[in-house]
Amino acid sequence: MTVNILFAAQPDRWVQYETPLTEALNATGLAYDLRTEFAPQEVDYIVYAPNCAVQDFTPYTRLKAVMNLWAGVEGVVKNETLTVPLTRMVDEEGLTQGMVEWVTGHVLRHHLEMDRHIVNPGHIWDHSPPPLSKDRPVTILGFGALGQACATALLNLGFPVTGWSRSPKPMQGVTTHAGTDGLPKALSDAQIVVLLLPATAATENTLNADTLALLAKGAAIINPGRGPLIDDSALLAALDSGQIGHATLDVFRVEPLPQDDPYWAHPKVTVTPHIASETRPDSASRVIAENIRGNESGKGLLHLVDRSAGY
Ligand code: NAP
Repeated sequence: MTVNILFAAQPDRWVQYETPLTEALNATGLAYDLRTEFAPQEVDYIVYAPNCAVQDFTPYTRLKAVMNLWAGVEGVVKNETLTVPLTRMVDEEGLTQGMVEWVTGHVLRHHLEMDRHIVNPGHIWDHSPPPLSKDRPVTILGFGALGQACATALLNLGFPVTGWSRSPKPMQGVTTHAGTDGLPKALSDAQIVVLLLPATAATENTLNADTLALLAKGAAIINPGRGPLIDDSALLAALDSGQIGHATLDVFRVEPLPQDDPYWAHPKVTVTPHIASETRPDSASRVIAENIRGNESGKGLLHLVDRSAGY
């Protein structure tokens, strides 16, 4: 029987995905029909971006799964009309690799204090070297697919890495802590903090006045996770007091970041426009096609979202 797959995303995404998704589905050997429009009662799978026209899943009576194109699912996870399994994007080759490169680059920028030399209008011959990576503790909040991959890269560069997650996630060579009680231990004396948590009710304002105060003075914050993970007022105050030396922020409560937001003009803040890691159509299409094939062959779905946990 033909598997009907609805691609439900903004039209510009279809331009990016039509060819790679068709090729990836062809490679599975499945009999399938991939379209941007179907009668809802004919659809088996929806490849989904939350900002699309499909917001009511009730008419999709034979739906087997919704496959979110992004790693973050906060835009769909609370949709009460969705009663079938929801998967999220886990793609080592594309999304994860992109995040590893972005995080490593920004960690190295802060670690090597590159700005001192790149922005040097006074032509100052400042010969003081940065420490070696072994003396620059990095803490990663959120130790899942992306956090662990970044940890591996940073470990290979010699950084002492600490990871924090909801449930224990031991990893060779990394100090790990879990749960609310583990957070102060994970943050204590960290010089660089990377946020790779999902946006849920439990993770909102993970970095606030109290937790920012636990970091080493002058620590750098790198947030490619989600905007609500940080109490913005507390971060601005900590930047102004010198408790935090710099914040590199890729994600915000409101995106695009409004022009009058204080982050834009703050001398100790780097704003990047939610580009830490995009879902890459080629590799993501292979992940989606393989997941559909696995489910159709009775193996079940990979990368399932825990709806009660919100990620
Ligand atoms: P993941 O595999 O689900 O990992 C999430 C991690 O956060 C897990 O370790 C989880 O703990 C931990 N966590 C969740 N709630 C927690 C809590 N209340 N307390 C402590 N730890 C908690 O997700 P991922 O694939 O690594 O992606 C992480 C996030 O990155 C996404 O949700 C998205 O927001 C963001 N992202 C951003 C971009 C970008 O371009 N800026 C791109 C991709 C993803 P457990 O291990 O115990 O479950």
